[in-house]
Amino acid sequence: YTCDLIRNFSIIAHIDHGKSTLADRLLELTGTIQKKQVGRNEQVLDKLKVERERGITVKAQTASMIHKFSGKEYLLNLIDTPGHVDFSWEVSRSLAACQGALLLVDASQGVQAQSISVFHIAQERGLKIIPVLNKIDLPAAQPERIAAQMQSTFGIDPTEIIPISAKTGQGVEAILEAIIQRIPPPSGLENAPLKAFLFDSFYDRYRGVISLVNVQAGTIRKGDKILSCHTRKRYEVQDVGVMYPEEVPVDCLRPGQVGYVSCNMKESSEAHIGDTLFRIGHPVEPMPGFKPAKAMVYAGVFPVDSNDFPKLEESIKRLTLTDRSVTMQRESSSALGQGCRLGFLGTLHMDVFRQRLEDEYDANVIITAPTVPYKVIYKDKEVYISNPTEFPDVTDTTSKVKEIHEPVVRASIIVPEEGFGDMMDLCYSHRAEGLEHRYLDAGSGSTSSRIILTCIIPLSEIVTDFFDQLKSRSSGFASFDYEDAGYKKSDLAKMTFLLNAKPVDALALIVHRSAQDTIGRAWVKKLHKVIPRQLFEVPIQAAIGRKIIARETLSALRADVTAGLYGGHYERKMKHLENQKESKKRMKRMGSVDLPQEAFFDILRK
Ligand code: GDP
Ligand code: MG
Repeated sequence: YTCDLIRNFSIIAHIDHGKSTLADRLLELTGTIQKKQVGRNEQVLDKLKVERERGITVKAQTASMIHKFSGKEYLLNLIDTPGHVDFSWEVSRSLAACQGALLLVDASQGVQAQSISVFHIAQERGLKIIPVLNKIDLPAAQPERIAAQMQSTFGIDPTEIIPISAKTGQGVEAILEAIIQRIPPPSGLENAPLKAFLFDSFYDRYRGVISLVNVQAGTIRKGDKILSCHTRKRYEVQDVGVMYPEEVPVDCLRPGQVGYVSCNMKESSEAHIGDTLFRIGHPVEPMPGFKPAKAMVYAGVFPVDSNDFPKLEESIKRLTLTDRSVTMQRESSSALGQGCRLGFLGTLHMDVFRQRLEDEYDANVIITAPTVPYKVIYKDKEVYISNPTEFPDVTDTTSKVKEIHEPVVRASIIVPEEGFGDMMDLCYSHRAEGLEHRYLDAGSGSTSSRIILTCIIPLSEIVTDFFDQLKSRSSGFASFDYEDAGYKKSDLAKMTFLLNAKPVDALALIVHRSAQDTIGRAWVKKLHKVIPRQLFEVPIQAAIGRKIIARETLSALRADVTAGLYGGHYERKMKHLENQKESKKRMKRMGSVDLPQEAFFDILRK
């Protein structure tokens, strides 16, 4: 395939608007996969188990297909993009390999927050946008109204919109034609030296790291000796091919083509996203790469049974081979033992990772409350801290801390008019500032108009319960997205919890001073509820610095109660309890208090 017969495109859509279903239809229509019975909904591109279970795409997948149009055979490369706020980095890297994108909008739901954010990324990259209205088969579909929304939100000419039903296949053929006619072919020079842009990688148990590349110039084939601009490492190409939709070897990849390259990379860190590969002896100017994914949410992960740490660490390492956006460091806690501190792109990313860890590696883990990276400014230096235990005591006047800054995001929420007040309350209760809003469309008859609300909000407020509350308060009708908006000075402090006057490191939190009393009281109550009574009285306290701000007392378990339960001599019974403790690895010792694992789970699940 020469360049003019190649099209590289992507599908951008809000979650659930039908991207995976459309991808399946396109693959079927081009004969890339066998047609399945209508109604069955197994998406080919969503490969991971969690993606199927949750119906979200986490890792971008790539597939090629061949389509005949006016007597010529075209090679169409679909580069799938994830549809969630946490993965906008994956979105931009997928789009970097495309010249065009299908902007898919659900004809019953209309434009949603994530369609807008991804659309902007696509537009910035100069991609040709093909607007598509999906689900026109639904009785609730309002194609004219949503088309008008697309016009007002994206500046799209309504006559360019292709109405389809990805479910029934209606109109999908027209998309293939539009891809060929409207999206420009990639430009690339066949006889120039090889220049291949590495935009993704995955791990194969037998062949090591496989890179997905977009050939910008020249050709790449088996036996080629290549070099990475970024790592300066040398490789011999073992195999090249296209994803059709699984790997199919080909002789060579030509300019404009998207495909895989296997070249004995052992470590996934060798496949640097945004890297440029070239032939040894024919150096090229590297392509502008992009900023690495930035971890914004951190949490400690500990094995339930401390003996399992080596196994857990091994499992995490293996998982990070397939998900490079997770960062990892060792961490130890006096309450939870040896563990790892992981950095994620967002909370969904964190949940997905935990689920994969449990599903694929059978790991029983405890995850501490998520935190964001805070910037602590001293007189002479700045330090980023993402672990509450390392946070300085700002109430200590000798601590030399000048200011604390926290990451903030620009949030956009789209909500039907009647839910607007609730959303404002939600934002204000999460320390939002600079609220602005405008109407997305005028509404018509039975349907209310929708409002887009933007504000600046601390990321720490979003990583806890914001999204769940947004969904429940709007009965699922609000959509939400956010982008990085830098750092902002804030009045924060570390809250510690003491059991029997001993601080429990794993429970430390960073809180805004204005909310410290409420949070302190709530947590102390909660601890009081989940911690089982001990043989002695246990004070449960919340503190900021040296100041106690909330307290509950867990009364002692009376001796005769234990006697009644177990019978026998008191001494023997105590021994018995001791033994039980010993054998119960699930017990965690916090200060002088023993806490069953389940209690810890309860606390940290919030
Ligand atoms: P994604 O999150 O964008 O990948 O969305 P999916 O492809 O997983 O689709 C979300 C849901 O919408 C699934 O239950 C699909 O069966 C359904 N769906 C997708 N396209 C259509 C369509 O054209 N009509 C109808 N009625 N349902 C559709
Ligand atoms: Mg999907």
